[in-house]
Amino acid sequence: MRDFTHAIPTTRVLFGSGTITRLADEARTLGMARALVLSTSQQKPQAHLASSHLEGRGAGIFAGAVMHTPTSVTEHAIADARSLGVDGFISIGGGSTTGLGKALALRTGLPHISIPTTYAGSEMTPILGETADGTKKTVRDIRVLPNTVIYDVDLTLQLPPRMSGVSGLNAIAHAVEAHYAYDTSPIVQLMAEEGIRALYTGLPLVVAQPNNKDARSNALYGAWLCAACLGQTTMALHHKLCHVLGGSFDLPHAETHAIVLPHALAYNARAVPDNIARIKRAIGHDAPAIALYELNRAFGAPTALRDLGMPESGVEHAVALALKDPYQNPRLLEVDSLRHLLMNAWLGARPA
Ligand code: NAD
Repeated sequence: MRDFTHAIPTTRVLFGSGTITRLADEARTLGMARALVLSTSQQKPQAHLASSHLEGRGAGIFAGAVMHTPTSVTEHAIADARSLGVDGFISIGGGSTTGLGKALALRTGLPHISIPTTYAGSEMTPILGETADGTKKTVRDIRVLPNTVIYDVDLTLQLPPRMSGVSGLNAIAHAVEAHYAYDTSPIVQLMAEEGIRALYTGLPLVVAQPNNKDARSNALYGAWLCAACLGQTTMALHHKLCHVLGGSFDLPHAETHAIVLPHALAYNARAVPDNIARIKRAIGHDAPAIALYELNRAFGAPTALRDLGMPESGVEHAVALALKDPYQNPRLLEVDSLRHLLMNAWLGARPA
């Protein structure tokens, strides 16, 4: 075994069915008497549901969260928060809404309760990606880690089946890269293996039977573990490629992860055979890259970057950006191999 460092994260986690009913107690524990509830416009009904469980500790709703946390939206929310005199934030939604909660907590120093409704995993990480003037910047700061995370499986039942599938693959991507992160630890690897197993076995049932609570619970549990891995390690090539592609071509987050993951995993596989052995064990398949590619296909989700609207000329641009300021990766990054990887992902070919 090699040397490692493992930091204990400080987020309080509640997991179960109907856990949103404990929101008022959690708000009280954090000293919130006038919380601002955050959501996207689509999830305003869930924001109202959260408010209804605050037992008078809610000051209002800001339903303007959007993808990539634009600073203009954050400033708008801060203005609302000031005029309402709020003393904390409750985000209910996917990574976009969690991101807004993190941006507000960072700027105000106020507590943040996150109630995730996708499998993206932002709620367990000290990472915030913000967009200003068309550029996305990422900061890693412990102050953006939510104080409390309430996982309520009931809130995930409405997540559309295909979105559930690709969001689950987004979560698996965190655990795949945590396996071979330069700063991984034995505890992270345990969580990563278990997270992949729970999602890989649970997602097909979630997609086939979106109201199956046991399947949803299994998937959400897996997503939590994968999110914890994301928060405790530094990601490699796969995440770099997705950041580059999302930022350059405005591609949808979860779908991009789902398409790129099998190709990035295949690229790194020979460099880290021991770690890949754990991923094989979690998935129960000798060729995990192929298995993940087939899983995405089975969801009926796009398997090609060109189907998301990326132009072919973008491949060269993405290779250049991925090599500029690269993330630490177990396999050396070479122009030709990366071009091959991205062209396969663009075409939707089976991973090499
Ligand atoms: P999202 O938050 O943008 O949600 C996608 C859509 O699904 C939205 O319209 C949302 O309202 C809707 N939705 C979410 N949950 C739903 C539910 N249960 N029922 C019905 N509709 C629902 O998508 P996402 O993939 O969760 O998050 C993507 C964003 O999160 C990106 O901006 C990404 O960069 C960020 N992210 C950040 C981190 C981090 O650690 N900082 C980690 C993962 C993702």
